[in-house]
Amino acid sequence: MPRTVLVTGGNRGIGLAIAQRFAKQGDRVAVTHRGSDVPAGLYGVRCDITDPAQVDAAFDQIEAELGPVEVLVANAGITADTLLLRMSEEQFSSVLETNLAGSWRCAKRAAKKMLRARWGRMIFISSVAGLSGNPGQTNYAASKAGLVGLARSITRELGSRNITANVVAPGMIETDMTAELPQARRDQLLGEIPGGRFAQVDEVAAAVGFLASDEAGYITGAVLPVDGGLGMGH
Ligand code: NDP
Repeated sequence: MPRTVLVTGGNRGIGLAIAQRFAKQGDRVAVTHRGSDVPAGLYGVRCDITDPAQVDAAFDQIEAELGPVEVLVANAGITADTLLLRMSEEQFSSVLETNLAGSWRCAKRAAKKMLRARWGRMIFISSVAGLSGNPGQTNYAASKAGLVGLARSITRELGSRNITANVVAPGMIETDMTAELPQARRDQLLGEIPGGRFAQVDEVAAAVGFLASDEAGYITGAVLPVDGGLGMGH
């Protein structure tokens, strides 16, 4: 059955691959963007997820055009890496505000209609860094670990209403975000990944697609790593 799907930050990178996967299977797919073009076949809605009013307006617009959001993929995220002693209040709070509070805000807004429909899927895009930590990413890792507590609390609150909330924790994926890594760090990471390579965005999209499916209805509060074994044991 076609669903209405919202992928935050679905205009590029991992989010775009996720959005295109849903679109290919016939779903009605909305993506947020902050002024960029949106590829054909996706419904673009302008929204900065740090602004509650914009989130509310984006959902109103999607509901009017595509119907209530049945699958939420909270994917939008940023980094502002630096070591703990050098990290500013702004670097910490901006990352938490986008990655964690922005996801919470979208989940809260989506939950209203999911509760009414007694069906919903929420998938939060975390990171291996949120599970095992990473030097230079105290802000980012804290925000991504927070998504696990968020998803699991939603599971406990809404699980009986046929709403699932899961976390996907990608490792190293080929995107703009990882293209910024210095070569030495890239080589070091490659040595630590049992799979011996970075992943393609479609490999994350496949995991998200599965968690959103009817077949995954009994999987909730789970953390699914897509990391080539990088974070094993966490
Ligand atoms: P990109 O940097 O390629 O894209 C980030 C996306 O988030 C963009 O669409 C961007 O929109 C959007 N975004 C950022 N801030 C906001 C905001 N305030 N409001 C709305 N949208 C916003 O990231 P990736 O595709 O690499 O990553 C996607 C997710 O996966 C992130 O949550 C990231 O933390 C996570 N992840 C990525 C990994 C990787 O290896 N790449 C590994 C593990 C996790 P805009 O185009 O307007 O800037």
